[in-house]
Amino acid sequence: MQNKGILIQPLYQEVWQSSGIDPEEIIELLVHFRLAAPVQTELSRFKPQYFLPAVLPGYTGDPNEVHPGYELRASPVHITFSTGYVPPGFFTCLATAVATNPNFELSFDDYFAASAIHSKSIYRNRVYFSYGCPSDNFVLTDINEAIQVDVMRYVPENSHPVPFKTVCQNIMKLLEECCQKVEDTLTLYHNGSNADRSSRRVQYMCQCSRSSEVHYIKNIDAEKQICSEFVHCKMESIPRRLTINELMWFKKISARESNDDQQEVMLTIANLVDIIRVLEKSNFQNQKWRKLGLYLGLIHPELKTIEDNYPRDAERCLEECLAEWLKNDTEATWEKLAIAVGEAGEKSAATYIRSEKTFNR
Ligand SMILES: [Zn+2]
Repeated sequence: MQNKGILIQPLYQEVWQSSGIDPEEIIELLVHFRLAAPVQTELSRFKPQYFLPAVLPGYTGDPNEVHPGYELRASPVHITFSTGYVPPGFFTCLATAVATNPNFELSFDDYFAASAIHSKSIYRNRVYFSYGCPSDNFVLTDINEAIQVDVMRYVPENSHPVPFKTVCQNIMKLLEECCQKVEDTLTLYHNGSNADRSSRRVQYMCQCSRSSEVHYIKNIDAEKQICSEFVHCKMESIPRRLTINELMWFKKISARESNDDQQEVMLTIANLVDIIRVLEKSNFQNQKWRKLGLYLGLIHPELKTIEDNYPRDAERCLEECLAEWLKNDTEATWEKLAIAVGEAGEKSAATYIRSEKTFNR
């Protein structure tokens, strides 16, 4: 029980029998206040069974540490509160609300149990869930000031029927619903007074290379943000593009796309030759590969590695840079490339790419 947080019927019936209250009523109360959630697990043949996160030990490791071996990982998101901390009881309620949701499954897998580091998946303040099939993982961690959400995919993007980006955004939508339920429960409990109700916000952790200190992207709205637009944070005075990991949370690729739902062709590493050929024909200057990389969402360390590996070989650097983009950006399109080429100062090359490859209506 203390390992997995799962309470089975024979156990609670025996323990609570002497209390003078019907054990089933106690469980009903716990479920009502979202302290326990009925779940289905492979752990025990006893039914019903309940998930009770409050009885578990606390996680004391690095909140950013997750099971290794993932192929894709979205930048962490924080659910913050106007009070500056997670309201008491909120996390436990949220974890149980999520566990009750039919889309999610508690993940007890002791992945990589061989590694000495935290191999357990479930703690009082940190819970692993799986979603979809093949399953993607997501973790909720109570870091006191906020609830951190991490989403990871452990299979290659091209072997999964649903794009990782869609999964991330679906998880966020379902989490929002769960948060709403928790808030309703907690407000009800506090005599329905709205006065001290803490307002909740979703914040996107900034992945800029300026600082390792936790800070957020400024004034950003997942519904409205256009992925090719610039973003700001308090660490950097110069606006920048969203990184590939950050892009997972945002819907719109370009302003044009917001007006029509026409599917654009997604580029993969298989298109590398074609892209190089088109860039050559457009007279794109190879020396501008670094700038292009920045506007395609590559981050400084990646560009630095390319530069160090192929010093003074602009052509090769451009190739590596494009390959890196195609490998990481699951929504690489000709239009995105054209935008980045234009931003890098190659306006006529951008026009050429559009005329050749995009459906410019
Ligand atoms: Zn930043």
